[in-house]
Amino acid sequence: MPRIDAGPPHYKEMLPPIILENYGKWRYHVIPRPGVLKHVAENGAELYSVRAGSPRLVSIDFIRDMCALADEYCDGFLRFTSRNNIEFLVSDAGKVEPLISALEAKGIPVGGTGNSLSNIVHTQGWVHCHTPATDASGIVKAVMDDLHEYFTDMKLPAKLKVAMACCLNMCGAAHCSDIAMVGVHRTPPRVNDEKVQKGTEIPSLVASCPTGAIRPNPKTKSVVVNEEKCMYCGNCYTMSPGMEIADPKNDGVAILIGGKTSNARTAPSFSRMVIPFLPNNPPRWPEVTEAVRHIVEVYASNARQGERLGEWVERIGWEKFFILTGIEFTDKHIDDYIFSRETFRTSAAFKF
Ligand code: SF4
Ligand code: SF4
Repeated sequence: MPRIDAGPPHYKEMLPPIILENYGKWRYHVIPRPGVLKHVAENGAELYSVRAGSPRLVSIDFIRDMCALADEYCDGFLRFTSRNNIEFLVSDAGKVEPLISALEAKGIPVGGTGNSLSNIVHTQGWVHCHTPATDASGIVKAVMDDLHEYFTDMKLPAKLKVAMACCLNMCGAAHCSDIAMVGVHRTPPRVNDEKVQKGTEIPSLVASCPTGAIRPNPKTKSVVVNEEKCMYCGNCYTMSPGMEIADPKNDGVAILIGGKTSNARTAPSFSRMVIPFLPNNPPRWPEVTEAVRHIVEVYASNARQGERLGEWVERIGWEKFFILTGIEFTDKHIDDYIFSRETFRTSAAFKF
């Protein structure tokens, strides 16, 4: 009889003895150097977590390499963080520096702690999904190469969370990150009547459109799209293989900024669009990497210590953000969806 409905293994089966012994009894932690956390328990026990970057999409060989390092330096214990970094759990302080040297010898950076840029939360892209407007792993590699110094150091005003989603479904954290790169289309879907007839529940397809741009067409037993109403979200293609929307020449990347999930100092917030479109330019996406670096550098040299990117923009005002960065403000930035009124300025307070 196969084992079913067993759930995941209990996490306590995989904890190092030092964590089991001091579970719920930690007193404080410090960051002795970028990429290393030191937790001290009530009884004085010390645990070092060495955080290393990972590309998320990894081979079994890569995982075996990490396991070999964990066997050598951490009695076989490691974990993955919620941003897909690898954390080696070291209870012998003398093994921290040798482990870091071993990781760096393999080309794996140590960092992502404190006021740094940690790993980029990202999605499937052209590797595995059928609805992307851009690639995930490719852009993430290009941006992390460019911003490498911010991963291995802690010189930013506050934590910087960058996320990437290859379509507006926003699998992951793009809607609530300091900086987000999101794949966007700019042309309407191409209705293939035969595919719609064969593979689609038409009422669900009609209901999938947020702007009511899709209507049934009884004559063709398919649908028609009012292109004036379409804003190229691609939701209809998720519902029906007869609504292809990918367009290599017109698809690209939008940049959003200013989101956060923590409640520290200020409430969590959504990220907002500041660059409507940058071209898909594989394999290194120079326009995207340059735009992200520029925003990071303007933020780093203007924000106060401890201020997240969105907190900084809210303090100085969005008009000042566009002036400081030189990013062009266009009609595309003005919200025109159902509850857009809340985003308009209803005050005479603004800066020239
Ligand atoms: S964000 Fe969109 S394209 Fe990317 S993995 Fe999710 S559904 Fe697929
Ligand atoms: S792309 Fe979006 S807005 Fe356009 S027709 Fe499809 S669901 Fe509607």
